[in-house]
Amino acid sequence: MEKSRFIALVKAAGVVGEGGAGFPAHVKYDACVDTVIANGCECEPLLHTDQHHMMHHAPDIVRALSALVEVTGASRGVIALKRKHAEIVDHLSRATAGTGLSLALIDNFYPAGDEQVLVKEVTGRTVPPLGLPLAVGVAVANTGTLVSVSRAMDETPVTRKVVTVTGEVKTPCLVEAPLGTPVSALVAACGGEIVPDPVYVLGGPMMGPVVDTPEAYAAAVVTKTTGGVIVLPRGHFLQVNARTTPEAMRRRAAAACIQCRYCSELCPRYLIGQPFETHRVMRAFAAGVEGSSQPARQALLCCECGVCELYACPMGLSPRRINIEVKRAMRAAGQKYEGSREVTGTRDDWRSYRRIPVPRLAARVGIERYMGIHPAGCLEVRPKAVRIPLRQHIGAPAAAVVAPGETVVAGQVIGEIPEGALGARVHASIDGVVTGVDGAVSISSKGALR
Ligand code: SF4
Ligand code: SF4
Repeated sequence: MEKSRFIALVKAAGVVGEGGAGFPAHVKYDACVDTVIANGCECEPLLHTDQHHMMHHAPDIVRALSALVEVTGASRGVIALKRKHAEIVDHLSRATAGTGLSLALIDNFYPAGDEQVLVKEVTGRTVPPLGLPLAVGVAVANTGTLVSVSRAMDETPVTRKVVTVTGEVKTPCLVEAPLGTPVSALVAACGGEIVPDPVYVLGGPMMGPVVDTPEAYAAAVVTKTTGGVIVLPRGHFLQVNARTTPEAMRRRAAAACIQCRYCSELCPRYLIGQPFETHRVMRAFAAGVEGSSQPARQALLCCECGVCELYACPMGLSPRRINIEVKRAMRAAGQKYEGSREVTGTRDDWRSYRRIPVPRLAARVGIERYMGIHPAGCLEVRPKAVRIPLRQHIGAPAAAVVAPGETVVAGQVIGEIPEGALGARVHASIDGVVTGVDGAVSISSKGALR
């Protein structure tokens, strides 16, 4: 397929990176690289969504990856997945036979699915600080994203998402739902919560935000980047950790950070060779001088994986959330990263010894009791009403092109990329009538209005 045609189809379908922050795919793929990696590592414990895609949509993944290899001029196309998924490995071996694509089998460690860690695993190259894999000749696409790319090649837009629903629910399942479906409808489809006062993690347990108020839960909907919903009892370690205030984090850092460096020594960004030592950010934050401290600006290199805070720190401190605070303050003050852009290969020898086994991580964060759960199939949810955010991606929110009272059909464009902006199109996910337009487009099915 012609590159311009491919990029136009991906753009028209509103495809974004589904495994991360939602970078618009038509921008990411408009590049020249030597290697394309399909990321099926899904390193967050408890999530099964990528496994589902690889098992049930392998032809789509192979088709989209082959097209991406062709249009980027790459000489190598690789599907990376955990070697522990033997059945899926067999399945993909057959699906890729004779295509020129290969598999890269990765050990079960966290965060194997981090884009920059995966580039290191597959190619041995280190993405430079604040760089993209493109900087080292690599494009990475989540396997779920590739399923959407394959559909885009048939002019089918992104309107649905497969989500893992697990934890304290009656029947943990994968659920396929239209974008904008209330998260509560997914939990209900799985038989509902089985603890009296639940809280919810939207995404994986390491990086997903915790939702623990009725208002936030009522507002939570499925987006293009939703990978999981994990139901936990209120008071769970992950909820308590997420609620620590910046003031408390500072007091605790000042009182208890022993500068042991464990947070830095186990940090995936440090281990791939970037000049990032998060204990230096801790030191500046504890002293209250992060605003004027050059080492504190390293916080911008943090990918917020949570290894330092949820696994490494022996004092139970919050380096990850402190990095987030420092980044927020720096952006507000217009401060930029001015540190080194150099990388070092001197940590390669010991990187493999510092990978964090997922079972040990699960025990540390208190989710080991959910680890043996394998979702019982994939349910389908058909909501009567959806609320589709106009921003489900990095960049500018889409501009609504529909108004209240208008009738729409599933797949119709309801949000366009603003002129000249980085962004992604948004489409209606059900047939119905537009009932509201603000930061999202609300649609009720005609049946619901009768
Ligand atoms: S691991 Fe904890 S105690 Fe040690 S330097 Fe990092 S934040 Fe401080
Ligand atoms: S969250 Fe912690 S371990 Fe992860 S990249 Fe940031 S500093 Fe490193």
